[in-house]
Amino acid sequence: MALFLQFSTREIFDSINVYPYTSGVRQKSGLSLAKVVSVTNHISFRSILVPLLILTTFLALPAQTYSQGDSARQTGPQLYKSRNFSLMTDISKDDAEELLTHLESMLKLVSGYWGRRNRKPIRMFVIDDFANWPQNQLAKMSPEGVQSVRGGGGLTITSVKGFVGGPKIDSEAIVYATSKRKTPQHEAIHAYCGINFGSAGPVWYAEGMAEVGKYWRNGERGVNAGEYVIQYLQSQEPKPLGAIVNNPLERTGDSWQNYAWRWVLCHMLGANKNYSPRFKPLGLALLADKKVSFDRVYGAQAEEIEFEYQLFVKDMEPGYRCDLCSWNWKAKFLVPSNRKTAFSKILAEQGWQASRAQVFAGDTYSLETKGDWTLGKDGELLKASGEATGEGQLIGIIFDDYELSEPFEIGGEESFTVPRSGKLFLRCRDKWGELADNNGVIQVRIGLLEKGERSAEKTR
Ligand SMILES: [Zn+2]
Repeated sequence: MALFLQFSTREIFDSINVYPYTSGVRQKSGLSLAKVVSVTNHISFRSILVPLLILTTFLALPAQTYSQGDSARQTGPQLYKSRNFSLMTDISKDDAEELLTHLESMLKLVSGYWGRRNRKPIRMFVIDDFANWPQNQLAKMSPEGVQSVRGGGGLTITSVKGFVGGPKIDSEAIVYATSKRKTPQHEAIHAYCGINFGSAGPVWYAEGMAEVGKYWRNGERGVNAGEYVIQYLQSQEPKPLGAIVNNPLERTGDSWQNYAWRWVLCHMLGANKNYSPRFKPLGLALLADKKVSFDRVYGAQAEEIEFEYQLFVKDMEPGYRCDLCSWNWKAKFLVPSNRKTAFSKILAEQGWQASRAQVFAGDTYSLETKGDWTLGKDGELLKASGEATGEGQLIGIIFDDYELSEPFEIGGEESFTVPRSGKLFLRCRDKWGELADNNGVIQVRIGLLEKGERSAEKTR
């Protein structure tokens, strides 16, 4: 799944010249010592999976409003410009302006994240309907680009001019994209990386991050992937991480399913507090073609990442926040006894949190809960017992050697038992996608009430 490299192709520069680009940033040709062109191909849903066509068309409904503004549409494609984009498109003026506004705020976030301001306008051909494009104009565009858009996807062509083996000195990118399915957003990420780093990184990173950018919405930190993507991911055995990051057979533009797994990994590493601090430097090193790899950076945490990745796929839904559900690997646990109790503060807005009690099936534990919490902004104050429906109740889960029990109810009772031995984690029962607006803390103290018959089994 490598981005493939080509040496200088004429049509790319032809298409630059064709483009009615008037801001004076037009490239002089002939100054480069070496030209390398990398192509990041976005997949075509249509040609790859027929059953999805229906779903995709359905999900692309907002994009279809483009076709409704016929009265507002000019004849043929028009050029629209913003600070960082030059957009040649046949979508309506309003839609073009909305797209540019979105792309600009996305780019601001992206440049902040990668710490590099965009150096050059990103040139984009965004095509809604080929019938609106004159034949002679299409004939001058990159055939690969046109072909990708006809297939329902997009293509970003990056040309890097630089010294062979030396620092890259100049690069530019042209995007061809269908107006549908947020393809322009996806391709714009490739173009930004191409222009500013001369590379988009290995395929898992390039396509994973382009998907992250595609789903980005201002002010939202939760999962925002299409419903069909989430359904697909949850219908499968999680793809092993090694198969996502180290599969030489995978390539750009291979299948939307592979894109979905790359997105999961990049989204999680970027958002989960256990992994995000090392993810940005890893990405910057990958973009700089340095000798780093996922395995070298995260190798020591392999089991932890695998565990959280599988849990993320299982629990994910729109609005799921990896940062609120990051697992606490550092918590110290103790075995409650007559003398020692385990104390914890459980936040309503977070996922599973350490109770600090190492528990045994068969034992009975005493429970003391103090405080209250709310579900949602204006929710009523609830105790650990929650609502009559069970929402907002204190619930538990047992972690043992990277395996989890089924969740079980604890509530505000004075005592409880556990279904198996291990480390007890707690949370406030609520939909995974709706934790962020919860409020409040419940203090939990767990002691040993009665020792049951313990099997020879030991917990780790
Ligand atoms: Zn792509």
